[in-house]
Amino acid sequence: MSNSQHNPPSMKWSMRLGSLAGIAVYVHATFLILLLWIALSYWRSEQSLQAVIHGVGFILALFGCVVLHELGHALTARRFGIKTRDITLLPIGGVASLEKMPDDPKQEILVALAGPAVNVVIAGFIWLLLSLQQTMLPNLSDLLKGNMLQQLLVVNLFLAAFNLLPAFPMDGGRVLRAILALRMDHMAATRLAASVGQAFALWLGLVGLLYNPFLLFIALFVWIGAMAEAGTEEIRSLLHGTTLNHALITHFETLSPHDSLTRAIQLTLDGVQKDFPVIAAGNFIGVLTQEDLLRGLHEQGALATVREYMRTEIETADINEPLESVMKRLQTGNCRLLAVTRNGEMAGIVNMDNILELVRIEAALKEGSRAFRK
Ligand SMILES: [Zn+2]
Repeated sequence: MSNSQHNPPSMKWSMRLGSLAGIAVYVHATFLILLLWIALSYWRSEQSLQAVIHGVGFILALFGCVVLHELGHALTARRFGIKTRDITLLPIGGVASLEKMPDDPKQEILVALAGPAVNVVIAGFIWLLLSLQQTMLPNLSDLLKGNMLQQLLVVNLFLAAFNLLPAFPMDGGRVLRAILALRMDHMAATRLAASVGQAFALWLGLVGLLYNPFLLFIALFVWIGAMAEAGTEEIRSLLHGTTLNHALITHFETLSPHDSLTRAIQLTLDGVQKDFPVIAAGNFIGVLTQEDLLRGLHEQGALATVREYMRTEIETADINEPLESVMKRLQTGNCRLLAVTRNGEMAGIVNMDNILELVRIEAALKEGSRAFRK
């Protein structure tokens, strides 16, 4: 029942590369498509294997820097007692799945700044290396045509600068939000920072229309990111400081492994429950989700037993676990239901529907008290 050993990656379609400082590093399948595309386009334009190796090598080195950037976030968060599930490389950059962001805005600022700081350090290190080699540093516009180290130097400076933009999905957006949160309510700070992010995206889009279509693409990414981030942040703010016992389901139906799927159908049709814990001799041994039930019905019909279709990789959560982290696990894991324990004994279950219900109620209460104050 341990949930620390075999965590699935945060994103589907990811392959494990290895681990750094105890944090698993995954690469998303689409990243390999990017590599292939780079290789092909170098081959088509230069027709030499050396150009292909140079192009692909540069992208790999660049993504090495991205991994170190994410590791900067992860290791700083670790100093504040926050674990990181994994780091995943996507074609648009890396994602470190932190268990949660620090509650203290000052710590959040440090965690956010640590990523770009890593790129600045890498750039400084390359600069030192180049000056030791006594390579003349050409001016900035020539650098991109220089050798791989010179290109990496520029790209790292660009990564640091781009990530420091005060627009929400970027690290700079987090810094802005945290600074605002020192002065105002967490949710108001989130909304304001998201608006700044979107205003910035609009401006960038406009510049892109006039000068460079690539900026348009980045603007779109920033706009969508700001909205998504504002959405999840709002939920996070609402759940802030709440523990699992607020969303605990204590009245629920269970199945036995020997039950036929017929019983699961009846229970599903009877009430609101879609996923069922499977209990044998008082122990929680598996989960039958609606998906499993439908698969069973399709393959064998209603007389198949629960045992054949239940999933046995089960996750548990302690009743005092923060709801934020429970929600994250439900969103990213492949299990839709967690068994909740109190002092090691089963106290109930929790699923996403229930947490979202709690969020809606909390949001309504908050809106209500705001209206009341006016
Ligand atoms: Zn970052």
